[in-house]
Amino acid sequence: MIPCQPLNGDRLNTISDHRSIFAQILVEFVERYNPKVEELKPSLVGMTREQLAELLGSRSDVKMRVAQITKRIYGQAVDQFDGMADLPQALRTELSAKCVVQPLSVASHRHSTDGVDKFLVHNGDGEVYECVLLPYEDRVSCCLSSQVGCPMGCKFCATGLGGFDRNLTPGEIVGQYLLLQRHSERRISHVVFMGMGEPLLNYNNLLTSLRLLHDEVGLSYRHITVSTVGIVPQIRNLAEEQLPIHLALSLHSPIDEVRDRLMPVNHKWPVAEVMKAMKDYQKATGRKITIEYLLIKEVTDTLEQAHELARIMRGIPSVVNLIPFNWVDTEQGFARPEPERVRAFRSILNNKGINTTQRVERGHEIAAACGQLAGQHKGLFGKNPTGRKGLSPIATVS
Ligand code: SAH
Ligand code: SF4
Repeated sequence: MIPCQPLNGDRLNTISDHRSIFAQILVEFVERYNPKVEELKPSLVGMTREQLAELLGSRSDVKMRVAQITKRIYGQAVDQFDGMADLPQALRTELSAKCVVQPLSVASHRHSTDGVDKFLVHNGDGEVYECVLLPYEDRVSCCLSSQVGCPMGCKFCATGLGGFDRNLTPGEIVGQYLLLQRHSERRISHVVFMGMGEPLLNYNNLLTSLRLLHDEVGLSYRHITVSTVGIVPQIRNLAEEQLPIHLALSLHSPIDEVRDRLMPVNHKWPVAEVMKAMKDYQKATGRKITIEYLLIKEVTDTLEQAHELARIMRGIPSVVNLIPFNWVDTEQGFARPEPERVRAFRSILNNKGINTTQRVERGHEIAAACGQLAGQHKGLFGKNPTGRKGLSPIATVS
């Protein structure tokens, strides 16, 4: 196990702007800690037009070839050189010697009776992560991972409890969408970053992926939701990009003492600070924000917290998405509240004019919730079944 020295909060507390420095160090550290992926063959999926042009070198037809490749890999989700009949055979042979079309292999695939497909994928380096296809009557959505594991250490989350391995590359992120598209009869129009990992800690790769999904795959930014635990400086950076991405904050309690205990990130960016950043994001982009609220019995579902949540949400163009806890084996023995407790919490919000939704449970029998399937597959590639080999959650150092 690698110790998390650079993330030591005590040392940073002596620096005046310690919060943004902490975020910067966290992001840079997580970006640098990419153990094996660089040794693998590069993949076309994940490359921008500029990178593809560089790969093709000084050919007279480079512009046309780049256009053909991007159309095939992003527009048509082609995953093999054989599927690129418009490229000369010699070029396909040359490219296949130095790269792959896309990096993902499927480790397992489960289909649930309510139409949800969950894939556990890897790219040959032994690290698995998950993505989910979610067809609805009026649209098809998908849920993507941004990291293998997660360093944020939230106490209720299977991914967080398992520790952190590495960031996903743009090829691995966009590759998940394309893999799911190959399995979907209808076009996937919506993407949510609610799989494994904290997307704003993999900021540069996330941004490249968002741009590829928009510019090359053709998705609307408005149909992409990024869910964050609340990395304040990165929320502010994202606001500056001026992309109309839908941002969701995993708040889970409006009270610092409760949130502190559930989510170590709250020690760095407490409720008032993260809510201010979300409000500013809303103003900068004009997009409604979503507040995700996990209902854990007698921990976050108290009526006192419902009233406080209603108070802090007043006047913000937003929706509060209530998520009854999906059972995970936690030290604290967290439980899911009974439906009447959920109803009581929701009615307080509704009576105070706060928009609410409740997460519809789908894919329950295939463990389609955050981190669950990968958790069940620990040891699949000969890893220590008691835990990940990589970093332990930052819970221990915040
Ligand atoms: N890291 C990001 C996105 C991935 S988690 C974030 O935290 O927002 C996606 C969502 O699943 C988050 O809202 C997270 O809090 C929630 N989640 C985690 N564990 C859960 C559980 N056991 N039951 C229900 N939702 C859970
Ligand atoms: Fe990471 Fe999100 Fe899970 Fe927290 S809830 S540990 S941030 S994936």
